[in-house]
Amino acid sequence: MGHAICPFHLTPPTCHWKIRIAQRPCCRLFAQSFSMLPSRLHTCESLILRSRDHREADRILTLLTPDLGRLDVLARGARKPASRKSGKVEPFMLVRIQLQQSKFLPFVGEVQLLNPFQGCRESLQAIVASSYACELVYNLTVEGEESDLAEEVFGSLITVLTEIDAEPDRPDLPLCWLELHMLSAAGFEPALEFCVGCGAEARPEPWGFSVAEGGILCPDCLGAMPGGRPLPLEVFKILRFLQRSTWEQVRARRVAQPALSEARSIMREYLNHTLERPLRTAQFERRSGRGLK
Ligand SMILES: [Zn+2]
Repeated sequence: MGHAICPFHLTPPTCHWKIRIAQRPCCRLFAQSFSMLPSRLHTCESLILRSRDHREADRILTLLTPDLGRLDVLARGARKPASRKSGKVEPFMLVRIQLQQSKFLPFVGEVQLLNPFQGCRESLQAIVASSYACELVYNLTVEGEESDLAEEVFGSLITVLTEIDAEPDRPDLPLCWLELHMLSAAGFEPALEFCVGCGAEARPEPWGFSVAEGGILCPDCLGAMPGGRPLPLEVFKILRFLQRSTWEQVRARRVAQPALSEARSIMREYLNHTLERPLRTAQFERRSGRGLK
């Protein structure tokens, strides 16, 4: 976000900066217009997370970039059929985009389509899975936050969209991997090494999982704490393996579908609890995958 100070509040750049930015529209607009871009003109690779109509012919795009993280930009005239941006600014398209600083949102200049992820658009299941991946990343990132992890988050989402693009009917493994990696990047990593009740080290035996406590429970704590659910050993192993591994390590391994579905169900519950609401696409995602595996 930089250290710009809103002229209306003279907010100092304290540790509460992001919270204050989020609460005050004038600070947010000020910060967006003056400190989102490192220079007046900035060109970067971007994945389009969201696109929504604005006024008669414009669109506001939410981009994920490897250098600036997540940011909103204004694509003027993008809804006109004759626009050069038309067809290049749809959700989950990878583009090289030129941005220009402005008093409101940065303006979109030239757009070069790098990868349309066509396979992600060719079936309902692929569309829903790709939308879910984008919504997950949107909800676990903070707009304008300069983060050392921005490049990693960007790379993880591109990896997952590439997998869905290639194998649209098997999105569960990449999505579960993304869920665990995004939770870690956002600081909500579920504890899978120690019991969250008593601190006992995890052992290869059936334990439990507590969504409210954010991690695994030993058999004693599972019996004693309300809200825990049994965690089959195979599911525990999958979650821990996905949390610790790169995608290259994950894709080389076969994972049984029933255990993977159970792992995703636990992650869904944990995400709902962490975000304090269900993701919009999660419900569709579960339905669209049913019966197709
Ligand atoms: Zn315990």
